[in-house]
Amino acid sequence: MDFDLFVIGGGSAGVRCARIAAGYGARVGVAEERFWGGTCVNIGCVPKKLLVQAGEYGAWADDAAGFGWTVTKGPHSWPALIAAKDREITRLEGIYRRLLANAGATIFDARATFIDPHTLDVGGKHVTATNIVIATGGHPERPPIPGAELGIISDDAFFLKEMPRKVIVCGSGYIAVEFAGIFQALGAETHLVYRQPLPLRGFDGDMREALAEALAAQGVILHAGCHLQKLEADGEQRILTFGDGQTLSADLVFFATGRKPNTAGLGLDKAGVTTLPSGAVVVSPKMQTSQPHIYALGDVTDQVNLTPVATAEGHALADTLFGGNPREISLRNVPSAVFSTPPISTVGLTEEEAAALGPVDVYVTKFTPMRHNLSGRNRKTTMKLVVDQATQRILGVHMLGEDAPEIVQGLAIAVVMGATKQDFDRTIGIHPTAAEEFVTLRTRTRVSGVAKAAE
Ligand SMILES: Cc1cc2nc3c(=O)[nH]c(=O)nc-3n(C[C@H](O)[C@H](O)[C@H](O)COP(=O)(O)OP(=O)(O)OC[C@H]3O[C@@H](n4cnc5c(N)ncnc54)[C@H](O)[C@@H]3O)c2cc1C
Repeated sequence: MDFDLFVIGGGSAGVRCARIAAGYGARVGVAEERFWGGTCVNIGCVPKKLLVQAGEYGAWADDAAGFGWTVTKGPHSWPALIAAKDREITRLEGIYRRLLANAGATIFDARATFIDPHTLDVGGKHVTATNIVIATGGHPERPPIPGAELGIISDDAFFLKEMPRKVIVCGSGYIAVEFAGIFQALGAETHLVYRQPLPLRGFDGDMREALAEALAAQGVILHAGCHLQKLEADGEQRILTFGDGQTLSADLVFFATGRKPNTAGLGLDKAGVTTLPSGAVVVSPKMQTSQPHIYALGDVTDQVNLTPVATAEGHALADTLFGGNPREISLRNVPSAVFSTPPISTVGLTEEEAAALGPVDVYVTKFTPMRHNLSGRNRKTTMKLVVDQATQRILGVHMLGEDAPEIVQGLAIAVVMGATKQDFDRTIGIHPTAAEEFVTLRTRTRVSGVAKAAE
């Protein structure tokens, strides 16, 4: 065999797995067809957060007046922002490539596909490997409506030549609400259209309500309960028609309506690897596919589609195969963030999920952060704890407000360790912060859920 391990895809999962395995002395090959670092570095987390931060500067310039500053805000230059973002991404992509090369992996700037269970076509060259990792990620999908190709997807949003003056973002997942916040903050009239009554399906109900309020307070125009029917062009204008016949026009329509695993054309049938109808590769908790020597990591498995999960899986697999340290990753209590304006962060169960299991004590607080009493900005913070009534264990921590992801990352350790409400109560706060509210929530807001015994 040419390699002990061949990794298809140089994204978060693939790079980590290849780098750690090569560090253990394994003969590793890795192929990337587009850009090293994958979605997260090039067209995901990193550039997205830079765009969110660009929007924040505009708001801070406005808010400074409340603190005595005279700030004259000039116009924002989208091309300057995109050029700065591109320079940073090019730097990061270079780092990813060097990390792999320095670890001793053999790098292929090519597409890899299966010829048989141990042989790959890598840019026209046949290579064989004892173990193979599929870490090909996913891609955005347009909705199945006529004219969908007239709208853009998240991959395109990072390379727009100019800022739209009016934009319609379709979808209510985290990418949709993040981009609605970005466009609005950078000056576009922004409409968010979605099918559900509230954005962010699957998140805690209080957070969803707080987010809808926050988006509206920011100036995003919300259109709940909308079914997309068709998209048409009238010159440069785009006209979106809904199921009820109503229309909405803008100079940009952005579909953030779902993602699909990258498995088409990979030759998985030749490798004997089973997929779900969605295209997701089926894996065991050890990340093994239906072929025991072929593994799949990250978004291509469509489990928890987040960068830290992908890298953790890649690291665990390299440790298992070559580090003499077999281990699995737990997908319970995975913390996550939505970089809306302001952001949401969450770890553990939502109130709805926890209440389905039994009675829970719920603590919620909502307040205007100190800063905005002076800035005058209409921006609230909402914080919430979901506590198992019987054991007093913290089942869920949720926050919408400035710095929420920075705060919840620390609390996630406590949740993973099994902290109780009493542990939170005996922790002294840091004053004056928003975070201290998490350790001073004394009054229960409500009890939720049903007692199992009573059912
Ligand atoms: C707009 C956006 C924002 C996001 N924001 C966040 C965030 O804030 N936080 C977070 O945790 N996650 C975020 N994510 C999700 C995150 O980017 C993914 O979970 C993560 O990148 C998954 O890593 P991966 O290695 O599985 O796949 P990817 O990073 O997608 O890497 C797969 C790589 O495989 C390559 N490839 C595919 N097929 C082949 C082939 N046949 N041969 C060779 N190469 C191939 C692709 O070119 C790609 O580079 C975001 C995603 C998007 C789209």
